[in-house]
Amino acid sequence: MPVQSRPILPYQCNQVIHPWHESCIGAACSLTKPLFKESFRIYCALYAIAGLIRLRKVKTLKQLRQRLIGFVLETVQSTMFLAVQGLFFLPTCCGGRKIFGHISYYKLYFQIIFCTLPGIFIERKQRRGALALYMTNLAVEVLFKMAVHRNLLTPLHNGEILIFAIASSIYTFILKTTSDHKHNSLLFSVIKSLIGKEECAPSLSIELIPKSKEKSVFFTLFYKYIKIIKHWPLIQNKNHPICNHKYHCFIHVLLGFLKRFLAGILIQMILHFTTSPIQFLQHPILFFSTLYKKGFNLGKFLGFYSAIYRLTSCLLRNILKYDRPEHGLIAGYLAGFSMIFYKSSTLAMYIMGKLLESIYFKCAHDGKVPIIPYFDSILYALSTALVLHAAVVEPQAMRPAYYKFIERLTGGYFSQVDRRMMDCYGVCSSKLFPNYKLPLMKK
Ligand SMILES: [Zn+2]
Ligand SMILES: [Zn+2]
Repeated sequence: MPVQSRPILPYQCNQVIHPWHESCIGAACSLTKPLFKESFRIYCALYAIAGLIRLRKVKTLKQLRQRLIGFVLETVQSTMFLAVQGLFFLPTCCGGRKIFGHISYYKLYFQIIFCTLPGIFIERKQRRGALALYMTNLAVEVLFKMAVHRNLLTPLHNGEILIFAIASSIYTFILKTTSDHKHNSLLFSVIKSLIGKEECAPSLSIELIPKSKEKSVFFTLFYKYIKIIKHWPLIQNKNHPICNHKYHCFIHVLLGFLKRFLAGILIQMILHFTTSPIQFLQHPILFFSTLYKKGFNLGKFLGFYSAIYRLTSCLLRNILKYDRPEHGLIAGYLAGFSMIFYKSSTLAMYIMGKLLESIYFKCAHDGKVPIIPYFDSILYALSTALVLHAAVVEPQAMRPAYYKFIERLTGGYFSQVDRRMMDCYGVCSSKLFPNYKLPLMKK
């Protein structure tokens, strides 16, 4: 039952927010070690992987030294960004309790902004946009779950597929209209490679002719064989002035499916081997059975996406006898339903978020909408405050993996918050903690 009124809590902050330590400063200090340790571990691993990938471009010793210095500075800066927010979190909550004399459901949200806003300004400017997008996605998910819990919304069955289909239709429409994608170029090139460059607007840039590489005897024979097949008149696309693709429509669709299907299986296998290498050593049978169960999902998703898109496009071209960017809207929308094989609300929300972001930047670039200064930082601060607020008073509305991340970051202290006291807010704050035990209070 939704409760409209949100009473205020007249308790001391050490009775509710930090029952593990009597003093506010002591409680905040106990978070210091896990915060810095975990933040450093996360960013060290993240930047080490990114650094290894970028290592290919290093040619001289000077460049290597610059990269190493950059790695250290980036790690320290990002560690500070994450840890400082954690360090400021309790003081902002306790400060509000001292100023207002109570803990209020709504005021707590605005108090938390005082820890997220300074935090984001510590992080590098280039990373703020990506962080804002990630946290906004999480915040939208939290708001959605909150609305469902309050009976304001009913979850739509397969809603993520619909979101993905709508985003996909707009992406493919843009891809068919222009080849200029300054913003969000990575995602545009991923979708372009899924549907094939023949299905997109011709590129404006002059493509360089790749240098011929020396191949082994085996590969030379293999390529010769493929070349012979390519010249079969049956598979050539000669009598079709509207379809631009090289081969017959049927082969075009089939090739689209097969290539992406195999690529999907390969990606899934690599992901499976890198995420659970210990399982491979300890329980190889279980490892391969889970690989077999999940192994084809990504392949089917990518394969059907490409095939449905190409099939619809070719059908439209054959029936209407012309090709227009509007076809991309229909073909992209229908292709989006291939997500049924790889359902992911995170992916759907990310793709939609990136689309909205690129539309905003395009409009801002054309002078149609004003550029709001520090928009990404403000968005990050508001979204992160919402997520953290939910983590305290309504953790069931959060993505479980993100709650576990906060829990790890705070050294387990986050689950020691006495949420039974907050149940009077009417949002079932203690729902996830039925066996909660009050920790021993340090003085
Ligand atoms: Zn306190
Ligand atoms: Zn065709």
